[in-house]
Amino acid sequence: MREIITLECADCKRRNYSSTKNKRNTPDRLEAKKYCRWCRKHTLHKETK
Ligand SMILES: [Zn+2]
Repeated sequence: MREIITLECADCKRRNYSSTKNKRNTPDRLEAKKYCRWCRKHTLHKETK
């Protein structure tokens, strides 16, 4: 039941991370504060399709 997702930086829109999530636990769009090496700081990363 785990699905592969991509995390996109909310600042520069680059796709920095790929991860997996459990769709049953997290039905909504996943958001996480992660380090973006393009912005060189921690930014909000959002799940993309
Ligand atoms: Zn960024």
